[in-house]
Amino acid sequence: MTAARQPRPVHIPEPAPAAPAPRPLLGVDVGGTKIAAGVVAPDGTLLATVVRPTPAAEGPTAVLDAIAAAVRELPGHEDATGLGIGTGGVIDRDRGVVLSANALLPGWAGTRLSEELGDRLGLPVAADNDANVFALAEQTYGAGAGCASALYVSVGTGIGGGLVGGGRLLRGAHWTAGEFGHLAVPEAAERPCNCGRTGHLEAVAAGPAVAARYRELAGEADVHDLRKVVAAAEQDAGPAGETARAVLAEGAGALGRALAGLVNTVDPERVVVGGGVASVGAPFWAPLTEAFAAELLPGPAGVRPVPAALGPRAAVVGAAALLLEEGAGDAPVRPSARP
Ligand SMILES: [Zn+2]
Repeated sequence: MTAARQPRPVHIPEPAPAAPAPRPLLGVDVGGTKIAAGVVAPDGTLLATVVRPTPAAEGPTAVLDAIAAAVRELPGHEDATGLGIGTGGVIDRDRGVVLSANALLPGWAGTRLSEELGDRLGLPVAADNDANVFALAEQTYGAGAGCASALYVSVGTGIGGGLVGGGRLLRGAHWTAGEFGHLAVPEAAERPCNCGRTGHLEAVAAGPAVAARYRELAGEADVHDLRKVVAAAEQDAGPAGETARAVLAEGAGALGRALAGLVNTVDPERVVVGGGVASVGAPFWAPLTEAFAAELLPGPAGVRPVPAALGPRAAVVGAAALLLEEGAGDAPVRPSARP
């Protein structure tokens, strides 16, 4: 009699553990009046944000403490792999040090952002200029995604931008690549620029410059907001509207010609224009595009400026994207490439 055949033990495989969610990144935009901090998924989705006032008058240590406090308020910040920070001024991207800054953040020059915030938060920290951060956001997730070469310009209270070549954002030999606001343009002749010189693009095409020109020509001393100039351009059929349309066209035309000159010299695949002034619509875009197209050489004749895609969130999302730049300064490798 043979023993009843025992059923073979059936091996039931354990369910494969779900792949862990990719760890998020942190991005911070530090301006003269506010600090915006966010948790950003590696695909660019903004998961949470915190906005706090910048204690600029209290000096750099207070600002660094406020940045760290804002980050600690973010839900899920403990899971992040690193922190990227964008701020005004010229920033040494390799060392994360502010080389020079403007009066909005007194004493900011010399601040060792990566070291000071790394000590406070225990994370790798990468830092760069806010215009480079805007360009990196649009290059990584926005209007220039997938382009090997592109030119990004942000037109707001100042004019800045970034130049991408070979798929990488170029920093230049002295960390000032992409400072398009300081191109000399004939329309700005004699007009003072924020840099202390005269005749630069920013002195004719940035928001405060357009508003100042309107005050000068229309005699309306209380107009300091570009939106009022745009409203006059769109709604006023009289002389004030005519003046508003003329000053917007002057600034946008100067920008268009300057950008076309850059396109003729570096021949990028795409040109992306963002920032507060760029979002005012036709009174700015129509003269910009017309002036731009008229200057192009035959090769890039089909290139036209396109609007930035990410809006105000580019500042935080782009700061986080600093951590995804491979081989750039102290930034860690792309999180998805880690073992
Ligand atoms: Zn200048």
